[in-house]
Amino acid sequence: MRRNGAPAMTGIGAVLIAVLLAMLAPLAASAQELGGMARLAGPVTLEAGWRSLSVSVPLNQAVPWRTRLLADPPRAVVDFRTLDWGDMDPATVPLQGAATALRVGNAGGGWTRLVIELDRPMGFSQAGMATNPETGAAQLTLSLSPLTDAAFAEQATALAATDGVPGEGVLHGGATRLPLGQRPTRVVLDPGHGGVDPGATHEELREADITLTFARELAETLHRTGRYEVVLTREDDSFLSLENRITVAHEANADLFLSIHTDSLEDGQAVGATLYTLAAAASDAASAALAERHDRDDLMGGGVDLSGTDDAVATVLMDLARAETRPATDRLARTLVAAIDGAELRMHRHPWQQAAFSVLKSPSVPSALLELGFLSSEQDRARLRDRRWRVQMERAVVAGIDAWVEAEAAQQALRLR
Ligand SMILES: [Zn+2]
Repeated sequence: MRRNGAPAMTGIGAVLIAVLLAMLAPLAASAQELGGMARLAGPVTLEAGWRSLSVSVPLNQAVPWRTRLLADPPRAVVDFRTLDWGDMDPATVPLQGAATALRVGNAGGGWTRLVIELDRPMGFSQAGMATNPETGAAQLTLSLSPLTDAAFAEQATALAATDGVPGEGVLHGGATRLPLGQRPTRVVLDPGHGGVDPGATHEELREADITLTFARELAETLHRTGRYEVVLTREDDSFLSLENRITVAHEANADLFLSIHTDSLEDGQAVGATLYTLAAAASDAASAALAERHDRDDLMGGGVDLSGTDDAVATVLMDLARAETRPATDRLARTLVAAIDGAELRMHRHPWQQAAFSVLKSPSVPSALLELGFLSSEQDRARLRDRRWRVQMERAVVAGIDAWVEAEAAQQALRLR
């Protein structure tokens, strides 16, 4: 376990948060709520990179949007909710790189559509709508990168299944993704410590070994359900920085991030499992430093584009993005605690706690840290060594994650209505 600094409270007014969130989350608000019909605020532009193609669409205000891929010929499609194209003539947009044609039109159900025809299979590698907090103007920026025929066929087919169903597309590290519950849920498991960092130790027991064993077994259990895709941040006894662990979650485009640890206390009284989620920290120095060291766009998982915003704004936006995943994170904590408790596995007397762990500072991925027990407790050590106990705990975690996916799917359905 690693504790980084003390929790602090955020002081931003709820109204301001609601307004900004409405602008940041394309699917959280309808254009009507944002006032008036959205329109283009400048020319649509295409720009070819070495192998990539980027598209930018300037708008006078943020609107809900979604992306999808269609086959024969390969096409990248972007739908905007109630956007007025005005007298925009797609023929005036200079074609670049892989783009062979550009069309705009009505997609039905209140959606307007931009179609970019491509001469090769490509997929969305990044997508984000940035909003200027002062003017309210927005810009959608998309990047397309080459895909193999097989990868394109898979993505295009999966998305075509939702074609014509308004509001079905959901953001995904940039591109469209089916809602939770209608596709495998991607879980990143993070076995704490490793390599030069053994974590807590007791005689021959090392936290780094226990967390790796548990994470491997849990990955296997999740995998066997057929409902999960699992990525481990480390697969062996190697050292990984906290930031690298977060980066794995973003690169894997995780739906949820679960870090596995065991605790240890000097006085040896504490027993049982504890679940930690991140305490809110509006101006937290660690998150600001983290934002500094990373490509911000990358850190945000493509959900919010922070390029071109100054540091103060970037900090507020990061915190808001975290506020957006916060309800999902809280639901994750509740379903996991309920499942572990429901399996009559020993939990700490404060089963859900909040702390400022660096490893949980993953703004766009709901994240939790599970302390399986205390290495300082003889009972807990016996449980952690016992394969049958671990199987029970692993099943309980799977049940908790199952319940979370169900809750999230219900929430997404509400938002998309
Ligand atoms: Zn630890």
